[in-house]
Amino acid sequence: MQTRRTTRPIRIGNDRTGIVRVGGGLDPAHDLAAGLTPEQLGSAPAPVSVQTMTAGYTWDIDKCVAEIHKLHTAGADIVRVAVPEKKDTLALKEILAQTSVPIVADVHFHFQRALEAVEAGVHKIRLNPGNINDRAQVEDVIRACKDAGVPIRVGVNEGSIIERRDKQKRAKELGAVFSDQKHGYMMAIMIAKLEEYLDIFYENDFFDIAISAKSMDATVVIDAYTEIAKRFPHPLHLGVTHAGPKETGCIRSVVALGTLLANGIGDTIRISYANDPIYEVQDGLELLYTLGLRERKGAELIACPTCGRIQVDLFTLVQDVHKKLGDDIRVPMKVAVMGCVVNGPGEAEGADVAVFAGDRKGIIYVQGERVATVPEAEILDRLLAECLAFQARVESGAAKLGEKKVDIVPPDPLGELGSGWEKMAAERIHGATDLTIGRT
Ligand code: SF4
Repeated sequence: MQTRRTTRPIRIGNDRTGIVRVGGGLDPAHDLAAGLTPEQLGSAPAPVSVQTMTAGYTWDIDKCVAEIHKLHTAGADIVRVAVPEKKDTLALKEILAQTSVPIVADVHFHFQRALEAVEAGVHKIRLNPGNINDRAQVEDVIRACKDAGVPIRVGVNEGSIIERRDKQKRAKELGAVFSDQKHGYMMAIMIAKLEEYLDIFYENDFFDIAISAKSMDATVVIDAYTEIAKRFPHPLHLGVTHAGPKETGCIRSVVALGTLLANGIGDTIRISYANDPIYEVQDGLELLYTLGLRERKGAELIACPTCGRIQVDLFTLVQDVHKKLGDDIRVPMKVAVMGCVVNGPGEAEGADVAVFAGDRKGIIYVQGERVATVPEAEILDRLLAECLAFQARVESGAAKLGEKKVDIVPPDPLGELGSGWEKMAAERIHGATDLTIGRT
């Protein structure tokens, strides 16, 4: 993992919603640090935030408010809403009064929507240089945001920045700096657009800016953000646009965003799926937890992939445990659900609560201590009860997370669990002595 890149910070929200700081840690001597106190700059970049976008109509106030609440409860730090029509910006005031998370207005084509959104009290504006590029209009938005203390994300999208009318300009951009790079064509256009657009902001003394440069191609996203990170000292909003259904979009987003974040690039993320946006929040948080960029809230579930030694319905058990832990566990304990005792103990190393299954039974351990053996039908309830009891002890200070009291002593593989033991006995007869060999 590379050290996080430093930027000029932006602050999104107000006293009521709380302020979400994005980026930061810029050297106070940097030109773009002018006017900021050391507290505003921050000594390090703020934790990477997770954002998403509502899927319903903004004008449908009650549904929009309910969706924002749901996404905020799931862990979204910032929620964006579309405002394509005046009835959407008219709804904003009421929506803002009923929600407690910073709200971003996503503006395309009509600069008036940005002015109306700022007037309504929105906490951030997203502008697309590809469809709002009249200088006077952009300056009107900048002025309104400056007066209201509202930051702006400049979001160039591969799909909307290609000059369709001015082919000559496009050709000139094509011949730019990146001709030796695989995605030089697209990067040249993105960078040129950003430079041209940001000049308007700088000339108007407006620096509360975040940048995004999304594409549906994960490799373009990696290359474009890597180049942008070198050139513009503003926080970066990472995303793969139109990533597709969750199943494949997850891979695209995690490859692109994970690569950039591991390289220290990125200050706020949005994973986008053609699905309920709650999955965007859940997967965005999991990505940040996995990279150690955010402190985990709730349990971390470790589970084996299963193999021919399995003798319980582990897939169902894991799904049920995952759901129950999500509902009931607040502290970041590690919980392991293992199909057998062959590789289970090694894989569950460091788990606070673990179960090893086999022969239609489960043996449950808490920080290495064996606490129960239960039939398969009771594994879920007993495991959850142990997790809740452990959580209570952690919260009262009686137990510490990650503290292994004793090494796990697995049950005799030829004894009480007996999972797949016929095969192992056969292996023994044929001379194999290493019982730890298994598919994992
Ligand atoms: S050997 Fe590993 S993968 Fe197979 S059931 Fe046991 S723990 Fe699961």
